[in-house]
Amino acid sequence: MSRENDGWIKTTCAYCGVGCGVEARPKLSGELEIRGDKSHPSNYGKLCTKGIALGDTIITDGRLLTPTLNPNDQPQALDWSSATTLIADKFSQAIRDYGSDSVAFYVSGQLLTEDYYVANKLMKGFIGSANIDSNSRLCMASSVVGHKRAFGSDTVPVCYEDLELADMVVLVGSNLAWCHPVLFQRLRAAKQVNPELNVVVIDPRKTESCDIADQHLGLHSGSDVALFNGLLTYLDQHQHLDHTYIKAHTQGFEQALQAARAQADIAEITGLSHQQLDEFYHAFATQQKVVTLYSQGVNQSSIGSDKVNSIINCHLASGKIGYPGCGPFSVTGQPNAMGGREVGALANTLASHMEFDNPQHHQLISDFWHTDNLATQPGLKAVELFDAMAEGKIKAVWIMATNPMVSLPDSDKIRKAMQTCPFVVVSDCIADTETTRMADLVVPAQGWSEKSGTVTNSERRISRQRRVMPSPGMAKPDWWIISQVASKMGYAQHFNYRHEGEVFAEYARLSTLGNLSGERDFTLIGLTQLDDQGYSRLTPQQWPVVKLQTEIVNQRLLTKGRFYTPDGKANFIATHHKAPHDGTSNRFPLLLNSGRTRDHWHTMSRTGLSARLGEYRTQPYVQIHPNTAAYYGITSNQLVKIHNTQGQSLARAEICAQVLPGQLFMPIHWNNATAKQSKPCALIAPFTDKLSGQPEFKHTAVSIAPYALQSAARFVTRTMVTLDGVEYWARQKIEHGYLYHIESSLPAHQLANLLKQQLHSGYDQLLSVDSGSAGSQQRWVTVCGEQVLQALHVWAQSLPAPVDDLSELLKSPFSDELAGALLALPTVA
Ligand code: SF4
Repeated sequence: MSRENDGWIKTTCAYCGVGCGVEARPKLSGELEIRGDKSHPSNYGKLCTKGIALGDTIITDGRLLTPTLNPNDQPQALDWSSATTLIADKFSQAIRDYGSDSVAFYVSGQLLTEDYYVANKLMKGFIGSANIDSNSRLCMASSVVGHKRAFGSDTVPVCYEDLELADMVVLVGSNLAWCHPVLFQRLRAAKQVNPELNVVVIDPRKTESCDIADQHLGLHSGSDVALFNGLLTYLDQHQHLDHTYIKAHTQGFEQALQAARAQADIAEITGLSHQQLDEFYHAFATQQKVVTLYSQGVNQSSIGSDKVNSIINCHLASGKIGYPGCGPFSVTGQPNAMGGREVGALANTLASHMEFDNPQHHQLISDFWHTDNLATQPGLKAVELFDAMAEGKIKAVWIMATNPMVSLPDSDKIRKAMQTCPFVVVSDCIADTETTRMADLVVPAQGWSEKSGTVTNSERRISRQRRVMPSPGMAKPDWWIISQVASKMGYAQHFNYRHEGEVFAEYARLSTLGNLSGERDFTLIGLTQLDDQGYSRLTPQQWPVVKLQTEIVNQRLLTKGRFYTPDGKANFIATHHKAPHDGTSNRFPLLLNSGRTRDHWHTMSRTGLSARLGEYRTQPYVQIHPNTAAYYGITSNQLVKIHNTQGQSLARAEICAQVLPGQLFMPIHWNNATAKQSKPCALIAPFTDKLSGQPEFKHTAVSIAPYALQSAARFVTRTMVTLDGVEYWARQKIEHGYLYHIESSLPAHQLANLLKQQLHSGYDQLLSVDSGSAGSQQRWVTVCGEQVLQALHVWAQSLPAPVDDLSELLKSPFSDELAGALLALPTVA
């Protein structure tokens, strides 16, 4: 363990693909101090709000502590031996009865590389099926396809440093300011140093990333291919092609150009003016060093792969690739999405950038793993996997560190799939998620601060994540749990790892198979000699790791115009604009976009534990343009219903000009564990890119209406409560407890009667006050000694919300003065 500098331990942030270095120091009180790691090349000491608040999320509230059978119906605690035997038996039985493709793993970019490696080895190497897919499928699968089609390998050619060296940075479908904040800070700082650095944001929304933009192109949703086909044509028409590069290093240019030339009506399709288009095209063509950085706005599309290749085509055609300050740059969403791609945790690759359709690769891995049962063909991708489950074809599934009930499209179908599957095991560190609610068996995995292993960030930088806290209860590393199950399935000699360093060493050796002369981009040959101490002390390494990097390196790939295709040339791909699947109609005339908000992460199972992070956005919301709001009679902060044939979702209206008229934006984080009826995925149909299998999360036709209810309440409580019988609630973490925001169709006095049942006994004082005017405002407060336990305030919707939000109440010692203030009903705003 790297424990230096007065007990500070170097580790890595749990959240986004920037992969910031963190230093953590446990305190005797059980709390964790956090600061940025100044020596880490991703962030040089900087952290965003989520990284700074990492220490807030290590509380034990809601942790899953024990393997539990039937957790939702007569729960039965198991020891580890019984739990892993049960998993092994259920999987073995299904394989015996229905074949190896009747079982599946659905894994996550939250897993460490060592966890991923062992899961992939078990499923593909020994079970003999490729039915293992990662939730990274939802994040950057289209980029993987785009890279492989163009470069012959899943190669990210650039480094973060290239943002600082560029003349122009184009952000496409990326709200970098919120989704990769420290990278955005680096870009902002680079622009301060070099005001000539031209930043262009291409996004239907005017996001926070536009704060530093010289140009914002608010194009129509889904029109990126048309935009970049137009750029390719412009490069040709204005003599900005790099013919030498095209001739020496690429193929398929003429077909791609022909397809681009056939692209009619670019201004109409994109909704951009000719002047806007010309300005962007001219800047791209004339700046020498251009980085095009893109993420989910490009990838999460039914033509995501073509969007990626339309961008790469422009870089290849102008030779803007393979040297400092230049290149296409797909940034990953999750902390170890890149690690999953390397390990082969996607259903359509083998391991270490080796492929199913290459017999030599198949043989190399079979020999290395000493197996004659290596899967021979790709498995089911995420959406297909849950479709197969719903059709009864999957008899046992293991879901690791992810929450598909919230994150996959068409939530109803996902529920049906999990109900249909005879055996669902979920390993997680959180006890109550929408997915654990569907499990037959839950097993406790370690959380971020307890895990040890490696992660890879968006610039191919491998960093150690180190254990900084002991694990609570019976929580174990994922690689250990999987190895135990593998052993009980009869593969003990192949999974007898003593610690995660041994897994990593094996993985490093695997990366060298048939790769001693750089045949593949990904190699860890320089780490094959690491001993336990070397692994323990490992500093960040950027792959390819040809020799152990003792200093920070910033390596680029594809620098010599050599690609990983059979003939070594890059492929242009002819791309064609196609409208997104879900078109608007009279019934559903609005377009719903979805994405992240600044201070929350995915399904909030961790960020939802931080009072600091909870303050920024307290409830689910939908952004709506003022014209659209006026048309639908929606007022600011009002509860609204967004709906279509898939389902409905409730959120507070945020009226703003960030979105275009006719468009809406909802964050992805709230779900049935943190709110009622506020999940965007309930509205999103499972349309996917046919090559990458990535769902179209950014373009859903919906309608919207005010959701007028009769009464509202705020409920402050030290422990969570169950709220049945109300139409809407959202839970906000506050210091020492939770604040529930509630709305109901019941009259205020009936809502008050309902919620009063949630006031726990055990108090020694009960204060109450009633405005008396037909129960239009009522308040109860329970107190024990010097502590307020719970406080409930109910009011009729005919009154505006009270100013006094009670969120500070649990922090203050109870006093007569406070009692007086609480019993004087607040004036309304
Ligand atoms: Fe963590 Fe990403 Fe923030 Fe860095 S930018 S601190 S990796 S969430």
